[in-house]
Amino acid sequence: MIKENGNISIDTENIFPIIKKWLYSDKDIFIREVISNACDAISKFQRLVSLGEANNNGDDIYKVTVSVNKEKKTLKFIDNGIGMTEEEVKKYINQVAFSGATDFMEKYKDKMDEGKDIIGHFGLGFYSTFMVSTKVQIDTQSYKEGAESVRWECSGGTEYEIAPSEERKTRGTTITLFIDDESTEFLEEYKVREIIKKYCSFLPTEIYLEDENKPKEEPKYETKKNEDGTEYQELVEPEAPKPLNDTNPLWVKAPKDCTDEEYKDFYRKVFMDFNEPLFWIHLNVDYPFNLKGILYFPKLTHEFEATEGQVKLYNNQVFVADNIKEVIPEFLLLLKGTIDCPDLPLNVSRSFLQNDKEVSKISNHIVKKVADKLVDLFKNSREEFNKFWPDIQIFIKYGCLRDPKFYDKIKEIVIFKNLKGEFVTLKDYLEANKEKHENKVFYANDEKQQSQYIKMFKEYDLDAVILDCSLDDHFISFLEMHEAGVKFNRIDSDISDTLGSKTDENDETAKALNKEIEELFKTSLGDKIKNLSVEGLKNEETPALILVSEESRRMAQMSKMYAKSGMSFPGMFDEEKTLVINNNNAIIKKLLEVYKDDGKKDEVKFICEHILDLAKIANKELDASEMDEFIKRNNQLLSKVILL
Ligand code: ADP
Ligand code: MG
Repeated sequence: MIKENGNISIDTENIFPIIKKWLYSDKDIFIREVISNACDAISKFQRLVSLGEANNNGDDIYKVTVSVNKEKKTLKFIDNGIGMTEEEVKKYINQVAFSGATDFMEKYKDKMDEGKDIIGHFGLGFYSTFMVSTKVQIDTQSYKEGAESVRWECSGGTEYEIAPSEERKTRGTTITLFIDDESTEFLEEYKVREIIKKYCSFLPTEIYLEDENKPKEEPKYETKKNEDGTEYQELVEPEAPKPLNDTNPLWVKAPKDCTDEEYKDFYRKVFMDFNEPLFWIHLNVDYPFNLKGILYFPKLTHEFEATEGQVKLYNNQVFVADNIKEVIPEFLLLLKGTIDCPDLPLNVSRSFLQNDKEVSKISNHIVKKVADKLVDLFKNSREEFNKFWPDIQIFIKYGCLRDPKFYDKIKEIVIFKNLKGEFVTLKDYLEANKEKHENKVFYANDEKQQSQYIKMFKEYDLDAVILDCSLDDHFISFLEMHEAGVKFNRIDSDISDTLGSKTDENDETAKALNKEIEELFKTSLGDKIKNLSVEGLKNEETPALILVSEESRRMAQMSKMYAKSGMSFPGMFDEEKTLVINNNNAIIKKLLEVYKDDGKKDEVKFICEHILDLAKIANKELDASEMDEFIKRNNQLLSKVILL
């Protein structure tokens, strides 16, 4: 056989069904494609005018009109842009995937106006119209002097017809879609309006929608009143139609020219959120890629709202999609915002984005900008930063858990509320407490339930931080992994060492006394509690308290999590609790005397059980049977008091 090189030929007949089915996952987008082509045609014409290569004859009102006609089953897109000559129609329309936009950009790339970029890229957008049409017709008149207007028609096969156009005699293009029977929804004005609003809200050219079957509004006479009360008739013009889009979205403006009010207005308008955002970041990058946008930190009224962010992605002001994880890191999707990135292809497919280096650069850049803003707020507006913290902590913590690189950038600004209500960094906390408990961070995760311990901490002049956000369990483990040596301990964990409440090893009398107390409780409580320790607490009023070993509590928590997923190890990972009995407490002292008298065993047992329950309640809610017993005992107690 002879060696041969050749081109694999692609037959349009084969490619049509592919375009129809696979190119776009969403039928709606044909509207976006056709309108972006119309806007492109207008931008191109404007550019030629500004370069002196075309003449608009003083008419500088540019617009795109979308016109539905349910009776005729047509949908028209009318623009007064650059138009096409016969030759151009053949070149740009007949050659699928030969993008006229790329061609134009190639030619004019050195003369581009700032900010007005061409949307098209792939030369496939136009053909998306065949997803919903039996026939597509183009009537177009080029801006070029002496050019003849052209009609092009095609019914979805590979054959087309080209002839002079009777319909279009002024500069621009009219695309007429003959909507097929499966797609009649696109003949509903409200539906078309909705789609335009979704994809084209920020296109740079005004877009109008009209219904050909609705009678045009005529000027009407209205009755008005003179100052003296007499009436007169006045001819009132109908209200001028309003464009559906905002041609100058705020992100296009330079950050220094935007006011707070404008940012808030834009937020309200785009996200329909009437709570004010906390703050925002205006992204504006030209190098090494183009990126503009505004990211808002929303105020959360409930924590669960944090899962409801929305970041809209645009390409040259054309909406592409919401919440694209490949471009905007997942944890940033908790925010609300708009990102415009002309360097991304419009008809993005996810697998394409995942492998695109440019995309990951963009994503990293966004993360960096967000981190910078947070650090800046921390350094320069600490008061405000503290105020925002309750709302933004879930976002920051989630960000750290998802992306350790984000953590590296913002670790210095993670703050904790301490028992005095101040916000301190981890470093501040460790530094302030290093004499008392080096590298240990004490925390409370339920201020109400743990109030007794908090009170005790204050009595001992110790400090703890409040960690009550739903991610904190994970965040604590994360910090322990990333901050060498730092250990988090809940406020009810093994704190005897820190409190210094253990009895002096050399004090034999005290030790003997402790032994007696321990003995007393052991006999009275039996197997109600495993570990007992007798110590001297500062607060004489508290007879006893429960401590839970941090390690065992975490293990128990984990095994509970596993149990949810079907694995269980009953009894293996129970929390290890210790009852610390306070030898400074008067009741305990008295109890020992009574115990030694040996006459009142039942009463001693009764009181020991009650002391245990009170300690338990101060630590955690009682379970049902414990509660039953506790109430019963309380009632007995009342009757004993009254009988005295
Ligand atoms: P792309 O927009 O990616 O270039 P399309 O398939 O959407 O590809 O369009 C193909 C080409 O057809 C455009 O680049 C443009 O040259 C031409 N075209 C489409 N619509 C219009 C229009 N309304 N006015 C002028 N030219 C148009
Ligand atoms: Mg296009």
